[in-house]
Order: sequence, then structure tokens, then C-alpha cells
Amino acid sequence: SKAQLFDKESQINITFNDVAGLEEAKTEVMEIVDFLKNPKKYTDLGGKIPKGALLVGPPGTGKTLLAKAVAGEAQVPFFSLSGSDFVEMFVGVGASRVRDLFKQAKEKAPCIIFIDEIDAIGRARGKNSMMGGNDERENTLNQLLVEMDGFGTNLGVIILAATNRLDVLDQALLRPGRFDRQISIDKPDLIGREHIFNVHLKPLKLAEEVDAKKLSAQTPGFAGAEIANVCNEAALIAARKGKSAIEMQDFQDAIDRVIGGLEKKNKIISPEE
Ligand code: ATP
Repeated sequence: SKAQLFDKESQINITFNDVAGLEEAKTEVMEIVDFLKNPKKYTDLGGKIPKGALLVGPPGTGKTLLAKAVAGEAQVPFFSLSGSDFVEMFVGVGASRVRDLFKQAKEKAPCIIFIDEIDAIGRARGKNSMMGGNDERENTLNQLLVEMDGFGTNLGVIILAATNRLDVLDQALLRPGRFDRQISIDKPDLIGREHIFNVHLKPLKLAEEVDAKKLSAQTPGFAGAEIANVCNEAALIAARKGKSAIEMQDFQDAIDRVIGGLEKKNKIISPEE
């Protein structure tokens, strides 16, 4: 049987409360929530509801989380696939997966389709030919364009896609009627990190001394994913020591661990010549 590349349609219970900071981005996607909930309000006046928006920003900053929160807030199904799933795929498979996904989504409209790492399929065409090309990726991209053009604007299918490489995307994706809106998702600043810590500290059993503000000051450059990671690591470290509450020292150890992990990852990405 065929492997399922996209998550089966699922009802999401993530809301904007789960997304800390990102106030501007939230304001922008709130409009999308309203399109999904009250399409008539817009179409009665002759408006065309946008089909797609790009969430642009570095890894781990909450793009997927925000897309899920849109579906959760609007209480519509969430379909997703990742561009990286399409790398090294057999001829014809990528395009047919895209076709199947849109078919399912249209049946379940209103809904959200989320495409993570769209740059993996949406790189400018024809630029890989030196390396033998990647025709299947192009087929997949072409199919995506065909599907986006093919459904009526007011059907209630809204496509959100995430990328950290806006510069490599095929311009065709950015034309009106496709991903004509861009929402930027940046790494959190000091206050943003404090808010994210607060979200992820909430379910934990903490010693009195634990302070989100201090933790935020100790984690410059961290994205939300790393902060979530720190909180979970700290809980595991404290548990390993048999503690009944997580202390500041456990967070410090967790921060060191996460920094160590990031350094290792960077070494793998850019090996010394
Ligand atoms: P990637 O580009 O690597 O796919 P992403 O931008 O889609 O990353 P997410 O997958 O949404 O990032 O984030 C990973 C996890 O990090 C989330 O599930 C959440 O736990 C945490 N996180 C990230 N940003 C935030 C935020 N703004 N508020 C709360 N949690 C966050």
C-alpha cells in the first residue's frame, strides 16, 4: 500500500493562545480565520478570498504552529504535507500526491492545506539542470500551480505554506491568485522569548525560583522550538535527579545541552573543508 505522505485530515485543537508572541503575524492570519468562518461576508460584496499565504521565517519559529492555530481557531480540517517528502520521489508520484491532496481538501472545504518547506518543491524551475535536473520536483511544482489555479477562489480552501528561503522560490508561486500574501515570522526578541517560556513552563512542576524573564535573558538567539526543547530537557534532568520540582539549575543545564546540540548541528551543516 502507498505510504501516506500527508497527514490525514485532522481536527486541530491548537489556538492562538498556544502561539506566544508573533503579534503581527497573528493579526494577519486572523483575517484568514474570518474568511474561513464567514466567507459570505466577503463574497456578498464581490470580494475574492485569497487562496494562499506564505509564512516566511527561520526554522523553529512557529510557522507550523501558527498554521495549525488558524485551523483550530476556524474549526476546520487541516491537511498537511512537507516539501521534503517529495525529494527523490519516483516519476509521477509527487504530482499525483498533490492531486489527491487537493481532491480530498476540496471535498472537506472549508479547510486549510499546509505545505511545510515549500522551497523543496518550489525552487525556481530549470536551475538544477546542471546537476542532471530534478524533473519530478518540477512536475510536482507544476501540479501544485495547476491545482491552485484550478479551484474557485471562494471555495474555502486556503493554502498556507512555510519557507525560510523566499529567495529561491519560483516566482510563479508568488503571482496573484497563488501565494500573494507573505507573513513574516521572526525569531523572538527578549519579551517574545519570555512569552514563549511562559507557554511551555505552564504544564511543568516548577520550583518557586524559576523565572521566565531570567531564562529569556539567558537564551539570546533561541527560536520557539529551542525554548520548548529547553523546558522539556529541564523536566527530564530534574526527574533523573529525583527532584519533585524543576529548579533554575536544571534549566541552566538544559540550556547548555540545547546550545551544545545546536553547535553540533551547525558543524554537520557546514563541515570544514
Ligand atoms: P520549521 O521551519 O523547522 O518547520 P516552524 O517554524 O514550523 O519550524 P514549529 O514546528 O511551529 O516551527 O515549532 C516547533 C515547536 O516550537 C512548536 O510545536 C512549539 O512547541 C514551539 N514554538 C515555536 N514557536 C513558538 C511560539 N511562538 N510560541 C509557542 N511555542 C512555539
